[in-house]
Amino acid sequence: MEILQNILFPTQFIPHGHCYLWQPELVWLHLLSDVLIAIAYYSIPIALVYFVRKREDIPFPGIFLLFGLFIVTCGTTHLMSVWTLWHPAYWLSGTIKAITATVSIYTALMLFPTLPAALALPSPDDLRRINQQLEIEIEERKQAEVKLQLLNQELETRVEKRTASLQESEGRWRSFLDNVRLMVVGVDCLGQVEYVNPYAMSLMGNHEEDVLGKNWFKAFVPPHQQQHSRAMFQTILEHDKRPYYQSDLVTPTGDKRVIAWYGTLLKDAQGQPTGVLSLGEDITERYAIDRMKDEFISVVSHELRTPLTSIHGALDLLTSGLVELGSERGHHVLTIAAENSSRLVQLVNDILELERLESGKVKLHQASVSTLELTQRAYELMELMAERANIQLEITELDLLIWADGDRLIQVLTNLLSNAIKFSEPSSTVGIVVEDLTTSDGKYVKFSVKDHGRGIPSNKLEYIFERFHQVDASDSRSKGGTGLGLAICSSIVQQHGGTIWVESLLGEGSCFSFTVPSCRQTDLKRTSNIKN
Ligand code: ADP
Repeated sequence: MEILQNILFPTQFIPHGHCYLWQPELVWLHLLSDVLIAIAYYSIPIALVYFVRKREDIPFPGIFLLFGLFIVTCGTTHLMSVWTLWHPAYWLSGTIKAITATVSIYTALMLFPTLPAALALPSPDDLRRINQQLEIEIEERKQAEVKLQLLNQELETRVEKRTASLQESEGRWRSFLDNVRLMVVGVDCLGQVEYVNPYAMSLMGNHEEDVLGKNWFKAFVPPHQQQHSRAMFQTILEHDKRPYYQSDLVTPTGDKRVIAWYGTLLKDAQGQPTGVLSLGEDITERYAIDRMKDEFISVVSHELRTPLTSIHGALDLLTSGLVELGSERGHHVLTIAAENSSRLVQLVNDILELERLESGKVKLHQASVSTLELTQRAYELMELMAERANIQLEITELDLLIWADGDRLIQVLTNLLSNAIKFSEPSSTVGIVVEDLTTSDGKYVKFSVKDHGRGIPSNKLEYIFERFHQVDASDSRSKGGTGLGLAICSSIVQQHGGTIWVESLLGEGSCFSFTVPSCRQTDLKRTSNIKN
C-alpha cells in the first residue's frame, strides 16, 4: 500500500499544475485536451478490435492489434498528463511513456516488413476491374453453359434417335431370324455352336442344351460328310471364301434333310476371325425332284433309243442293199420300222401328255356326267380291239352322275380296257362295273375294269403306276404300250380328287379300280361334256 501510495501520490516532486502557475484556463485547456485525446485514443482501438473481429478475412490482423495497443498506451500517457497536473507521479508517467515507446517502436518495426505485402494487396480499383473481368467471364461461362446444355440436349436427342433406329433394325433382324425359313447357325473358330435361329433349332433338336455348345461337325454332320464339311469350314476361316456346299442333317424325328450351306466368315473389331455364320437352305424336296428328273431323262432317253435303233437298223439294211426293198424280208423290215416309228410317236405323245398333266397345264373341264354315257362311249371305242382279240366286253347298266371331265375319264377307261384286253387270253371277258361308294370323305362313284388275264405279281403291284414300269420288259415289244398309260390314268384320277388302285392274282386276273366324286345337288345340271 505504501509503495502504491509512493507511485501514485509521490511527494518529492512538484505537480505539473505548478508549471502552469495553476492558471485555471491553462490547466483546463490541458486537462480537457488530454482527457479528450485519451477518450479518442481509447475508443479507436475498440473500433479496431471490433473491425478485426468482424472481418476475419482482413490481411495483417496483428498490425491492427499492435496499432490498437499502441494507441491505448498513447491514450494512457495523456491520462497520466491529467494525473500529473495535481500528483507528480512522474515515475509512473515516465514508465508508461517507456511502455508506449516500446510498443510504438515495435509497431513501427513490424510495419515496415509488412509494407511490401500490404502494397501488393490489390487496390479497390484493381478489385473493381478484376470483379468486372470476373463478371464478364461469368457471363461468358453462363452463355457457354447454355450452349453446352443445348449441345447436350441435341446429343441426347441424337442418341435417342440412334438408339431407336438401332432397336428398330435389331427388331427387324430378330424378326427376320425368328421367322425366316432358313437355318442360321453361328459357330466359333473351333466349330462349337454359338447361335441357332428358331427354324434351325426345330430341325436340329428342340432344346437349346441339345444344340448350343455342341461341336457342329460331330453332333450334326453324318460321319461320311464330316471331312468335306470341315474342309469347307477351314476354307472359310483361312481364306475368307464363301463356298457353297451341301450336307445331310438328321432331324430329331429321324428325317434326313438335305441342306445347302452358304458360310460367311465372322471377324472381330481388329479383323481377327471369330467364327463362321452359315445360312442353310432345306433343299430336300428340290434335291429329290432333281434326282427324279435326272432319272426320268435317263429312262426316257433309253426308251426312245430302243425304237430309234430298230428304225435305224431297218433303214440301214434297206439302203445298204443287204435286204431288197421288194422282197418279203424287205417288207418285213419295213413293217418293223413302221411299228417302231409309231411306237416312238406314241411314246413322245405319252411323255408330253404326262408332263402336261403333272405340271398342271391340263385344265379339267368338269361337269355332271352320266356314268352310263361314259362306259358306253368307252365300250364303243374298244369294241373293235376286243373283237380282234376275241374278248367279250361287258358293261353294267347302272347310271350315276359324277362331277368330272368326261373326255379325260374316257381316256382312263379306254387305257384300262386296252390293258385288260392286251393281257387277257382270247375268249375271256372284260367288264366295267360302276358302283356307288359313300366314304367318310363324301360320295364317290367307283369304276372297276375286271379281266381274267395273266394277273400281276404281288411284288410289282405298287410299281405299275410309276412311269415306264412294265411287269415284263418284253411287253412293249409283244403287246405294244409305253409303260406310261397307268401313270397318265393315275394323274387324271388324282386331278379329279379320286384314287386309283389295283387288285390282282397272278394267273387269275386283275381288277383296276378308281373313284371319282359324285355329282353334288348343286351341280345337278345333266350336262354332258363328252365329245363325240
Ligand atoms: P403299257 O403301255 O405298257 O400298258 P401301262 O402303264 O398301262 O403301260 O401298264 C404298265 C404295266 O402294267 C404293263 O406293261 C403290264 O405289265 C402291267 N399291266 C397293266 N394292266 C394290266 C392287266 N390288266 N393285266 C396284267 N398286267 C397289266
